[in-house]
Amino acid sequence: MAATSKPLSFLPHIEYAVTRKQQKLPQLPAQSSYIDSHCHLDMEAYQQDLDQVLTRAKQANIVNIITIGIDLASSVKAVELAVRYPGIFATIGIHPHDVENIGFSDYDLLQKLYDKSPEQIKAVGEIGLDYFKNYTDHRIQRRHFARQLELANSCGFLSSSITATPIPTATIF
Ligand SMILES: [Zn+2]
Repeated sequence: MAATSKPLSFLPHIEYAVTRKQQKLPQLPAQSSYIDSHCHLDMEAYQQDLDQVLTRAKQANIVNIITIGIDLASSVKAVELAVRYPGIFATIGIHPHDVENIGFSDYDLLQKLYDKSPEQIKAVGEIGLDYFKNYTDHRIQRRHFARQLELANSCGFLSSSITATPIPTATIF
């Protein structure tokens, strides 16, 4: 089937080129450039065609991509991609679903990762609390989240207004 285009009602100046087999990237206005602030380029799905994916992103004026670490291995891979490809940046972190699988000393490894490539790492994440799926005990999540905030602070990612307020450890733990 030939590619067809149809305007998006909420973005009339942007047209999607849709084929029967795949939905392609939207054709964005030529004068604009964009940042994809959250993707997972280290995942298996991109192993075969990462270069083509990045080429299509460039053609769609996506000038920067931030690939997100969700555990130790993906954080390392995210930074490797950021070092290898201009325009790609990384975050490092442990998703709350996975914090049970690491020790607190593993945050030292993330700190070393940041210290080695501070220009490529733009945030600490994915981190936080996930009380929806409840894969990990809430107390464990809170302890790790506090440690993750310490990591973010030591990497210089927290604003002074946040760091001026001590973390109320009595309530966290
Ligand atoms: Zn994500």
